[in-house]
Amino acid sequence: MEGIFTQTFKFKVINGTPLGRACIATKEIIKSEIICKFAGPKISLREFFDKYDINDGNPLQITDDNYIDLIVPYVCFNHSCEPNAGIRNNGILFALRNIPAGEEITYDYSTTIDDVTWQMECMCKKKGCRKVIGDFQSVPHEVKEYYRKNGALTTHIIQTYY
Ligand SMILES: [Zn+2]
Repeated sequence: MEGIFTQTFKFKVINGTPLGRACIATKEIIKSEIICKFAGPKISLREFFDKYDINDGNPLQITDDNYIDLIVPYVCFNHSCEPNAGIRNNGILFALRNIPAGEEITYDYSTTIDDVTWQMECMCKKKGCRKVIGDFQSVPHEVKEYYRKNGALTTHIIQTYY
């Protein structure tokens, strides 16, 4: 079928949650289903820190000093230490398990960042919360293995650590 491809999302951005913006599933998303492909202009980490307070921005690392300054709605996904979605390649967000409509979609920011200077406080309130979100090296071994086995690591993290 020919025509202009228009992306339809199975989520919407809402405001006013305890963490501010959040992305909520509007339809059931099945395990392994692609939720969206992240996009935005390229930025260095230094430029990123000059532009944002750490809790405002959300960079996606592509190479050592090459990040994507995620645009709306991609920047609106919150972190969780026990997420229902993961990131692979250079920003493909997919479901780690079935996500029912109405549930917030989250991923683990630490699976996308390889820079020890990057840290933010975590307020995900999950049982396994690490309290401080650091880069990939800060993630406990068994959690890293869970993401690796489920294909929930970016190309940069795989090339750097595996
Ligand atoms: Zn947490």
